[in-house]
Amino acid sequence: MIEKFQVGTRSVNELKDITEKIMDIISRSGISEGICNVFVPHTTAAVTINENADPDVKKDILMELGKIVPFSDEYSHLEGNSAAHIKATLTGCSETFIISRGRPLLGTWQGIFFCEFDGPRERTVYVRVSS
Ligand code: ZN
Repeated sequence: MIEKFQVGTRSVNELKDITEKIMDIISRSGISEGICNVFVPHTTAAVTINENADPDVKKDILMELGKIVPFSDEYSHLEGNSAAHIKATLTGCSETFIISRGRPLLGTWQGIFFCEFDGPRERTVYVRVSS
């Protein structure tokens, strides 16, 4: 079973919590024990699992990624969004996690985040749930 949904982002760089969306898809799948793959089909966006309790963690992640990968540098890519491509590669375009008792087996403080690095845009996320 493969599902997709859209994510609308509002900033150039943004981490958006998509845990509830993924939980809905898992719930509709009827699969209680299995694996879930989340895939982002974009070259300037990504997906990551990290803390969803303190919103400052998202802020800090974006701030430090901005320092590691400056917006302007001696990039060759003419589109002007090389920083976004590099951040997407560092973060990764997919996540896999275990489904147990019909829910993602995440740590207490973990959430699943869509990572926008070249927004604002309308984006797509694919989710595959398998037993
Ligand atoms: Zn580009």
